[in-house]
Amino acid sequence: MSEALMGVYNRAPLEVERGNGMWLHTRDGRTFLDCVAGIATNCLGHAHPRLVAALEEQARKLWHVSNIFRIPGQEELAARLVGATFADAVFFGNSGSEAVECALKAARRYHAVNGAPERIDIVGFAGSFHGRTYAAVNASGNPAYLDGFGPRLPGYVQLTIDDRAAIDEAVRRPTTAAVIVEPVQGEGGARALDGEWLSWLRRLCDAHGVLLIHDEVQSGMGRTGRLFAHQWFDGAEPDIMAVAKALGGGFPIGACLATAAVAGAMTVGAHGSTFGGNPLAMAVGIAAFDEIAREETLANVRAASDRLTTGLRDLVARFPDVAIDVRGKGLLIGIRMVPNNREIMALARDHGLLVAGGGENCIRLLPPLTITLDEADEVLRRIEATFAAARV
Ligand code: PMP
Repeated sequence: MSEALMGVYNRAPLEVERGNGMWLHTRDGRTFLDCVAGIATNCLGHAHPRLVAALEEQARKLWHVSNIFRIPGQEELAARLVGATFADAVFFGNSGSEAVECALKAARRYHAVNGAPERIDIVGFAGSFHGRTYAAVNASGNPAYLDGFGPRLPGYVQLTIDDRAAIDEAVRRPTTAAVIVEPVQGEGGARALDGEWLSWLRRLCDAHGVLLIHDEVQSGMGRTGRLFAHQWFDGAEPDIMAVAKALGGGFPIGACLATAAVAGAMTVGAHGSTFGGNPLAMAVGIAAFDEIAREETLANVRAASDRLTTGLRDLVARFPDVAIDVRGKGLLIGIRMVPNNREIMALARDHGLLVAGGGENCIRLLPPLTITLDEADEVLRRIEATFAAARV
């Protein structure tokens, strides 16, 4: 590893050179089945021909002009997002953290311009992850992310999902601006929140004039078999939503979606980004959106998810000394492990399979949404071999 890089990552000893579909090829000639997909970003697999074509075509025309000018690609992608969701307007950034930053700023600003500047508190939940920028780590649930970065900033409240009484009390407070929640916690270990809880939270926020922010950076853009995870449920729509990762099919994009009421508070000068919504990102984003939003893609996510979760539950029953349970939603799947998840990730690599880690000692499977049923069966065979090796 290079000492010229800050050592903030625990990197697997692999040098990936190229990918196609859900296969990755290393420089030293090995191939791997990829159930990481760039941490849920390469949602259409690697080197998808339509995305490559969109990027190449745009690259020959124009890379960047800045937001001083109109960017037609932004208007097109925003129209698609608005057409498919609760939202009326979109701000484009470059990452999930930036999408969250915009969401948090928009929430406070909404109250400020509507005569309630005292509403600044952001309520977040244990086990949540919202990114690594300053506001995002403060809103995140794992205190380790704040280690060495000073105390949690004022205005950030942390609660647990199961403590409805505390949530009720916090949302009633006249200083609360917004609640931020991942409908399926990703980094926390593929924990899917139930629809009853999400719609309860929506009603509670409505009753007390508090905004609801969904962080669908990981769970969104088809990952759960619907375009957005909250769309599985009635009465669970947010006021603001952070989206990124799969939105660019592997190209850096982030987006903050909001209702007209919230977006109306974000007037000229309230926010911005030099690179956000650049023509290259928009060209790939539009192509990715059109592929992901196809019913065939979403139906494939549901079918592959059934195949994988059924097979995994069977493996968990057969290897109780290795795996505890299977959870998640769609193709955001977590398996809680008995041995340390890092050991299992290394063993999986020995069996030609790449998986991610997650909270609560999970391994996480985040395959491309285009995974075939044959590939899902191959994933199961490799997990079985991994579990067998973990047992000896
Ligand atoms: N929110 C969620 C739910 C995420 O999973 C992530 C990234 N894992 C982020 C925000 C931050 O995204 P980024 O790393 O692109 O800033």
